[in-house]
Amino acid sequence: MTEEDGDLAHFCCDELEDAVSSDAEASLIEHDSGLILLNLGQREVEGETGAVLTTIRFCPFCGTEIQTDEDIEAALGAVETYD
Ligand SMILES: [Zn+2]
Repeated sequence: MTEEDGDLAHFCCDELEDAVSSDAEASLIEHDSGLILLNLGQREVEGETGAVLTTIRFCPFCGTEIQTDEDIEAALGAVETYD
């Protein structure tokens, strides 16, 4: 049983689909790994400014669990860009 309707792919609702962007300055970013990341804004660390990103488990719009801890761990393990 699946609630995916094709167009939404892994998005649970139109609001999330509209909000998520591959643009690094968007509030919600779809990472190459397929994870949805929440952009908490820019932070300067040791002279370099970078976006502070955090993973989210639940859709901020409808509350659907969009990625589990296992999904997140697996994806982060694969990309290893978080250090
Ligand atoms: Zn949603």
